[in-house]
Order: sequence, then structure tokens, then C-alpha cells
Amino acid sequence: MTEPTKWVFAFEEGDGKNKKLLGGKGANLCEMTQIGLNVPPGFVITTEACLAYLDMPDRTLPPGVMDQVRDQMAALERKTGKGFGDPDKPLLVSVRSGSAMSMPGMMDTILNLGLNADTLQGEIKATGDPRFGYDSYRRFIQLFGKVALGVPDELFDREFEEVKEHAHAKQDVDLSANDLKEISERFLKVVEEHTGKPFPSDPMQQLEIAVKAVFNSWMGKRAVDYRNQFHITPEMANGTAVNVCTMVFGNRGDDSATGVGFTRNPGTGENELYGEYLINAQGEDVVAGIRTPKPLARLTVEMPEMARQLAELREKLETHYHEVQDFEFTIERGVLYCLQTRNGKMNAAAMVRTSVEMVNEGLISKEQALQRVDPISLEQMLFPRLDPSAKSEPVAEGLPASPGAAAGIAVFDADRAEQLGKDLGQDVILVREETKPEDIHGFFAAKGILTSRGGKTSHAAVVARGMGKPCVAGAEGISVDVTRREAMVGGTSFKEGDLITLDGSNGYVYIGAIPTMDPEFTAELSTLLEWADEAARLEVLANADTPDDARLARKYGATGIGLARTERMFNAVERLPIVIEMIVAETPEQRQAALDELLPLQRKDFRELFEVMAPHPVTIRLLDPPIHEFLPDEHQLERDLADLKVLAQSTRGMTALAGTMGLLHTPENERIAFDDLRHVMDPMMVEEAIAKKETMLRKVRALHETNPMLGHRGVRLGISFPEIYKMQIRAILEAGAECVAAGMDVHPQIKVPQVCTKQELLRVKSYVDEIHAEVEAATGRKVPFKFGTMIEVVRACMRAESLAEEAEFFSFGTNDLTQAVFSFSREDAENKFLPLYNRSHILQDNPFEVLDVKGAGKLMKLAVEWGRSTRPDIHVGICGEHGGHPASISFCDEAGLDYVSCSGPRVPVARLAAAHAALAHKAV
Ligand code: ADP
Ligand code: MG
Ligand code: MG
Repeated sequence: MTEPTKWVFAFEEGDGKNKKLLGGKGANLCEMTQIGLNVPPGFVITTEACLAYLDMPDRTLPPGVMDQVRDQMAALERKTGKGFGDPDKPLLVSVRSGSAMSMPGMMDTILNLGLNADTLQGEIKATGDPRFGYDSYRRFIQLFGKVALGVPDELFDREFEEVKEHAHAKQDVDLSANDLKEISERFLKVVEEHTGKPFPSDPMQQLEIAVKAVFNSWMGKRAVDYRNQFHITPEMANGTAVNVCTMVFGNRGDDSATGVGFTRNPGTGENELYGEYLINAQGEDVVAGIRTPKPLARLTVEMPEMARQLAELREKLETHYHEVQDFEFTIERGVLYCLQTRNGKMNAAAMVRTSVEMVNEGLISKEQALQRVDPISLEQMLFPRLDPSAKSEPVAEGLPASPGAAAGIAVFDADRAEQLGKDLGQDVILVREETKPEDIHGFFAAKGILTSRGGKTSHAAVVARGMGKPCVAGAEGISVDVTRREAMVGGTSFKEGDLITLDGSNGYVYIGAIPTMDPEFTAELSTLLEWADEAARLEVLANADTPDDARLARKYGATGIGLARTERMFNAVERLPIVIEMIVAETPEQRQAALDELLPLQRKDFRELFEVMAPHPVTIRLLDPPIHEFLPDEHQLERDLADLKVLAQSTRGMTALAGTMGLLHTPENERIAFDDLRHVMDPMMVEEAIAKKETMLRKVRALHETNPMLGHRGVRLGISFPEIYKMQIRAILEAGAECVAAGMDVHPQIKVPQVCTKQELLRVKSYVDEIHAEVEAATGRKVPFKFGTMIEVVRACMRAESLAEEAEFFSFGTNDLTQAVFSFSREDAENKFLPLYNRSHILQDNPFEVLDVKGAGKLMKLAVEWGRSTRPDIHVGICGEHGGHPASISFCDEAGLDYVSCSGPRVPVARLAAAHAALAHKAV
């Protein structure tokens, strides 16, 4: 014969580690009992019983369950010396749900089960306290009625308020025994009227109904919705357990109390007992907000002995669980009971502080300290956030495109943002339909960016993230009217100069200024991240284009720059005209003249980056984007030309008029005025402008490409216009030589974009060798530099063996590589079909956010392997946005990369994620 299924476990016998079977609450009640904490006796009915019950066609409890429950109740009677349903010494219990994961939306707890007309009298006799007896009774009827029998709360509340009013009672505690008696009688009637049956009086029957109600609640709408919303799968939690626990009473008078505690302050992480309690109250009164609870510090004054025992309980919980605990307790006539414990939920700052302090106290290891902090949560500590005590309703919601919060006045174009933000020093929020590269100066001047169109990878989002500024993108509820400098949202609007606030961490937009709190890069965070660096195998570098970016990256612990994009340096307002000069130049001499102007500027850019990062490497990518990106828009040029031609005609008309005037007799003053006007509207000047615009238009048309991102860009550009790359290479090496001369330890790295064949690398390498020799001869300085390549086209992966002959490092550009692997463009994908693909599970994730490990990742692994077969010490890393995402970082660790490079504000997240990856891969 096989053993009958064990459906029920006493707290003394259940396995505290088996949360799937016993639920989190039940497992911890068992564990606490077994380590000797004062838990009222009780037992757990398993989640397996729940699942078996839900499978029964007629929803009866599976055979054996109630038999085992009755056995356990008999055991409880022995342990407590009371009897279930015994009018002389009644045993009362609570019936509590609890699954493997904490899930609000599950069934409420029923307290005081086992009361009926007879046991009530017994309870009153035993305690000599009728008020207490009726108070317990009315609570039980209401909770049982609501939870197990589905009677609406309002029906009870109505009766309750009526009696309270008659009694002129301000608070619940002002109600007398008689009032409470009347309330319970009325409650019994409410139940009978609503269910058509008398309130069940047999305790065992009450218990069975309650157990079934808890099981049913697992499939209730609230619980099912919650599981869907938070992706709780059956592997994580399947079914709920039922905990039956002997009642203890915090409402037995002024020597009794109930409360909740945190073993450490969950807001700050400070090592102090934190929590609240209420004298003479039962369970949920503390959270129900009927009376205002007192801080636990008061307990030392009100009940010193209890405070001492509570401190002891706190100590025992932490030394046992090695984790901050969130616990419930009740004091019944001077005896302290612990009713629940679980790991405390804290904000990031508190998690970090407790991690470091618990290591210092010897409570946990450094590894455990690292593992208990979620890397992504660190963002909370790195960006300003809204003051949580400020209450305000958002007027619109967009995508949380770049974390952090900012308040400021709305401005609707980049020039105004610069004027008000940079020149006048005001806090401004740049509001646009969407942003373009030419808005960049507005980004620098703004505290935050808000767009009404575009996704998480729109220009606004990518640039804002790079700069570490908050951004809400695609807030479609807002319609932006740039010409009227106004935005409509819902029924209201805001104009230029009106205050708005945005929270890029959740995508909310508010009208008015909400106070924000500054980020805190605490000493504990630094310590934790140092431990992370010790544990990690991957180095963490930063993507940084400006000295400010670089300084931030260093502050956050980056050990170098993995990607400096030189196109941003070309886009600066004062440089763009020179860059345009260079592009439209008709002769090599003209082009060289423009490049000669750019050279010192770039040299200064690079020198600053080297200085900030020394002695760490700085990887500079040669110009990448298609060159026409720097030129004006074709249609705009056409319109300008049309206008200029009209103007040319007018100036010719004026010449004619002047001639006519000479023949007529015109008063002296009129002639002078007219001459002045002619002077300003010089036909020659207009002709010249027309000629310039025509040249520009011709260039723009000549450079036009059908698919610019697959066209004339990257190394292809560097080979067709060698002067450009040569200028950049010279700027890098000369800057390096200057730094070396100044005694600095600098390590420039030259990175070539878009490479698909070794021949391209060889060509660029020849420029480098030539210029390097020249610079060395001219300065007498040796610049220790490295030469390497982006790996971002499929062919580069396939030819990694050959590329590694020339490249000393590989840098995976996973944005382009992802596009190349899927053969769809990011903008089109994200704006058109990708959301549908994700919704319908054709693609699990957005591959531009979460690295496609199976496709792009496989190619990366091959490239790493082949590259190393040629050059075993080749330095390999990733510099796409993926480099800052924990899951992708884990992949990079596993694939044997040497480093990840991500935007500066992401560096701390990446350092911790790199440690997590190393620890996880060490474990297997
Ligand atoms: P929740 O999961 O909502 O916290 P609980 O099952 O923990 O629900 O119980 C709700 C309240 O009732 C808590 O304050 C708890 O401490 C209290 N409580 C539960 N069981 C008992 C008991 N046996 N004796 C006294 N109070 C109890
Ligand atoms: Mg609880
Ligand atoms: Mg690229």
C-alpha cells in the first residue's frame, strides 16, 4: 500500500525551505517555530491540497484533507489545553492564505474562527472581559461573512456606524461591551439575510468553509489578474497554502498590543528597529488606519520589558535569516508572539547600505551582499527622483525613455532652450514632437526632454540616456504646437514659460513644478561597487563623447572609454559651418583649408578626453555617419533658392528705379534714403548667395542616398575622402604626443567603423602608420596606441580570423549588428511591426533593447572564437546600448568578452551586473 498523501504539516514539522509546498508565510511559520521563536501553535494545509481541490469536479476537499485537519486540531487542543468548540475553554484560530510569492489580491485573513454563541460565553467567562469577547465576535462575523460567504462590507459598515452614532462613540475603542454585543447581533442578521442561511455555528464547519474559500480565492479574478500582470508563472507560485494558527490577542487590554516591524529602516537602511504598534488592538488595525499607530521607539517607554524582548526577536531573526526581515508581532498580556516574517522590501539606497553593513557585521558574505541588490535598481540612486511625499496627478504618460526626474519651464525649440537655459540659467524642459541631431544644443541646455512621438530608441531617448538626462518620449496625449509655443494635453494646455515636471523613470508628465530629490552616490555604493569589481571578470568602460561625459564615467568607476563618437564633435554649432565647408569644397585645396581649421579643434577634444581618463584607454571611433547628415535639408534649400530668386528680381528692379530717378528731379533727402536702401540690397550679394545655395543643393543631391545607413558611411567614407580620416588620426596622435610630452600616461585607441574586409583595415592602417611616423619625427614622442575595428556587419563576424591580423581589438557595435542580423531597420521596426511582433510572441523581446543572444549572440561567439584563433590576446568588447543591460552583460561574460562599454550613468549598473554574471557563471 502506498502512503496516503500528507496534506497537512504542523509548524513543528514543515520544511521551512519548501515555499512552493507551504507558501512563503507557512514555510516561515514552520521555520520560526523550529528555531524556537514564540509562534502560536498551528499547521499548514499545502498548496498541493489547493491544486487537488481545484481539480475536483464538485469542489469538495480531496479525501483525507479534513481527516488530517481534524488530527491537527486535536493536537492544537493538546498543546493549548483548550478545546475547539469547547464552551469552557474555547480554542480560537486564524485562517490565513499564503502562496510561494507574496500576492496582494489573495484572500484576506479570518481571525477568531471558532466563536459562536456558546464559545463566546466561554471566552467571556475565561477572560472576565465581555467587551473583549464581543469585540472579537463582531470582527469574526464580519471577516468570515465577507471573506468566506461573500457578504459585502458595506452592509456591515452601515450597521456599525449606526450603533456607533447611537452610542455617541467617536472612536471604535469608545464602544462599550453592550454596543459591541448589539453590533454582533446585527451582523448575524446581515449574514442570514444576505445568504439565506443562519451564520454557521459549528467550528469545524466554519473551518472547512474557510479553507475552501482560501483555495477558491487562488482562481479569483483579483488573484488571476495579479499573476498575469506580474508574469507570475506556475513555476514561481502554484496554488495557495492555508495557515491555521492559534489566536493570540493583542486586544486583551493595556498590557496587550499588536504591531509590525522591520529589523532595519527600509527607507534608509539604518541599523535600527523600525515599525509601529497599537496598544489594545487586533491584527489588521495597524494597517487599517482607524487609529494612528505609534512608532516602535515608544514601546521602550510604554512596555520596557516587551521592547527588550522585541530587540531580542529582531536579533534572532536577522542572525537566522541573514537578511532584513519584515515581521508581525502581537503582545498578549505581557507575552510576545511572532506571527509572520519575510524578507524586507527596501529602496535601492537602503539595500545598498544594509548590504555593506551586514558584511561588516559578519552577517553575510560579500558575494551575498552583491547578489541581494538588483543592478537595475541602482538607477534610483544615480538620478534625481520626485519627492515621494509630493502628491500630484500626472496629466500625460509617455515612455520612460531615460530615467530621472526634472522640473522646469517648457520651451519648444532648441534655440530658446539654449537662450533661456544656458544664457539665462533657467531650468528648462525641451518639449518637441520629436528631436533631430540639430537640436543637440537644446539638450545640453535642458534639464529634461519631452517628446510626443517616437519610442525608447528615438533620437531623443538615445541622446538623453547618453547624457544622463531624464526623457519621456512618445507622450501621445500631448499635442505640440511649435509655432504657437504651446502644447495641448487633455483639457488643458501649457505654454512656453509654464512649469512642468517629468519623470523619465515611469514616463509621467505633470503640470507645475514637483520637488525633486538629488541622487546620492553614497560611500556604501562605492564600497559595494568595489566589491563588484573584485568579483567581476568583465571590465566596464564607458561610451563618452565629451570631457563632461568622461568625468562622469570616471566618477562612476569606468576604467576607460570604449567608444567616443566623433560625429558629435562635428555637430557643435560653431563647427558645423567648417564641416559644411569641408564637404562642399570643390577642390582638394579648399577641402584641406577646412580640415586645417578642424584639426586643432579635434586635437583639443581628444587631448581633453585623454587627460580626464589617464591612465585608462580612450577608444576613438573615426567618423561614422553618412556625410550628408551634416548638410542642410534638400527641400529647405529649394525653398530658400526660390525666395532668393524673387529677391534678386526685386533688387534688379531697384537698379532700374535708380536709373529712372537720375532722370527725374528727386528731392535730395529722398535720394539719400533710396541710396541707403540700395546699398543694403546689393544685387551682387544676392547673386552670390544664390550661387552658394546652388552649389550646396548640387552637393546635397549628389550625396543623396537611397539607404544612407547602408550607404556611404563609416570606413567607406574614410577611404573615399582620406583627408577626413587622416585629419582625425593626426589629431589623435598629436594630442597623444602632447600628453606624453606633459608626462601623462595615455592610451589612445583608434577604432574603424563599418569594416567588412581586411583590405579596408589595411588601407586605414597605412594612413595611421604614415602619420604616426610623421608625428613621432616631428615631436620626438612615442605614442602608445592601439588600432582596432568595430564588428558590426555580418561579414566582419565571418571574417574575424582575417580582421584580427590587423586589429588589436574588436568592439561589437550591437545596434548595427542587430539590424544587420535581422535585416530590418530599427526605426521602421520599432515604429511599425515590432510592437505587434512582441505582443503576438513572434519575438519575445525587442532585440534593440535585449540582445538577441540566439542570433546576433551566436554570431558574436563565432567572431570571438575566430578572432582569438588568429590573435589569442585580442581585446574584445561590446559598445552598443546593450552593454548596459544586465541580461546582455551576463551573455557577454559567458561569451568570453573582455569588456562592456555603456553610457556613463549606466556604469554602476553594469559593474554590479558584471559581478552578478561572474558569480552566476562561477556557480555552474
Ligand atoms: P496578511 O498577509 O494580509 O498580512 P495575515 O495572515 O498575516 O495577513 O494576517 C492579518 C493580520 O492578522 C496580521 O496583522 C496578523 O498579524 C494578524 N493575525 C493573523 N493570525 C493571527 C493570530 N493567530 N493571532 C493574532 N493575530 C493574527
Ligand atoms: Mg501578514
Ligand atoms: Mg554602428
